[in-house]
Amino acid sequence: MDLDYTPADDAFRAEIRAWLEANLPQAMRDKVLNHKRLSRDDIANWHKLLGKKGWSAPAWPAQWGGPGWTEAQRHIWDAECGRIGAPPVLPFGVSMVAPVLMKYGNEAQKRRYLPRILSGEDWWCQGYSEPGSGSDLASLRTRAVREGDRYVVNGQKTWTTLGQHADMMFCLVRTDPAAKKQEGISFLLIDMKTPGITVRPIITLDEDHEVNEVFFEDVKVPVENLVGDENRGWTYAKYLLGHERTGIARVGASNRELAFLKGVALRQKKHGKPLLEDPVFAARVAAVEIELMALEVTAERVIASAAGGRGPGPEASMLKIKGTEIQQALTELMVDAVGPLAAPFDPAFLEGEHEHAAGGDDDAAPLAAYYFNYRKTSIYGGSNEIQKNIISQMILGI
Ligand SMILES: Cc1cc2nc3c(=O)[nH]c(=O)nc-3n(C[C@H](O)[C@H](O)[C@H](O)COP(=O)(O)OP(=O)(O)OC[C@H]3O[C@@H](n4cnc5c(N)ncnc54)[C@H](O)[C@@H]3O)c2cc1C
Repeated sequence: MDLDYTPADDAFRAEIRAWLEANLPQAMRDKVLNHKRLSRDDIANWHKLLGKKGWSAPAWPAQWGGPGWTEAQRHIWDAECGRIGAPPVLPFGVSMVAPVLMKYGNEAQKRRYLPRILSGEDWWCQGYSEPGSGSDLASLRTRAVREGDRYVVNGQKTWTTLGQHADMMFCLVRTDPAAKKQEGISFLLIDMKTPGITVRPIITLDEDHEVNEVFFEDVKVPVENLVGDENRGWTYAKYLLGHERTGIARVGASNRELAFLKGVALRQKKHGKPLLEDPVFAARVAAVEIELMALEVTAERVIASAAGGRGPGPEASMLKIKGTEIQQALTELMVDAVGPLAAPFDPAFLEGEHEHAAGGDDDAAPLAAYYFNYRKTSIYGGSNEIQKNIISQMILGI
């Protein structure tokens, strides 16, 4: 089934494009377009701006403040945000914990957390992975012991994205160590200001502080912060992961990066001619462009079939693999295009503190850090090897 855009969809595209042009702050847009680092405030302020407009959670039902957009309209929204260079709305609240709360949370949890997620008042982080429990997530060991009206949590999470800014964590904990490993896990909502929580930075290859280790030492969590039933957390965790993978294809952003790459390759010269006219380099760019066009059509097909009422299925794994392969290929081509100009590393320029980069080429200077940062995409959200296992089992039936 293909996605057919109607005249109403075209009008919708024109409306949101005009709104984005008028409302996306230029400074934020410049950072995204030029591969600079977004600050906490950039991300939080953009979420709040969208929240006021009612557009921070495109997939939410109107009952909880969503805009009531169709699947096609959501796809158009993603593409337009990617095209223009809008900062991301972090998925942890809006697209991860919120769908779980809507389906499995109690009324009090929905009423308390959903409006704060929508407005951007609470910053959420994801407490799934642990040292030794990434792909084999069900082996996780962070322990929660019930004592009266609270759980006492001890253990460690790792790779917690932007946990240094978070107000809340949704966290998988082991509540029954004697049960089969998937059956002894619960899903807790933890206030990050609770005594006993320590957040330590993990500095990545590009010298950025994007991920963390989080330690729990006798952290007391009220029982009312348990989502659903005790020991049924694995069901909720898997439901959440299906949502995690859908947005990961990032077709709109890759289209923008492809245009950036072509611009760079036009300006760089090889034997006195634009690099983009070099047949070998041009063929490499064309190969990625064709893959991206195929991904866009595939994403639209998946969306069209989901419009029939099915939730995100194992097809999301295909989008994740292809989407991240393309993102990484684009960063490789950018670094290849500028060659040694990517070598100077100027963190202050990346943070927006210097107007011009050390080394003299403002386009090229952020590209090595961007390249290194994007090695993550084939690992997070379930590694690409794990996605291939899902495809072989759930789609191919092997
Ligand atoms: C930048 C970044 C941000 C992240 N953010 C978060 C976050 O916010 N919250 C969170 O909870 N987690 C987060 N993660 C963790 C991420 O989900 C895990 O890194 C991922 O699930 C892989 O787990 P692992 O690192 O333990 O690697 P491992 O599971 O140890 O895997 C190592 C290698 O073995 C391969 N492998 C493992 N098992 C199999 C198998 N059965 N078949 C084939 N190959 C296999 C993997 O593909 C990988 O190449 C983040 C990771 C990164 C890199």
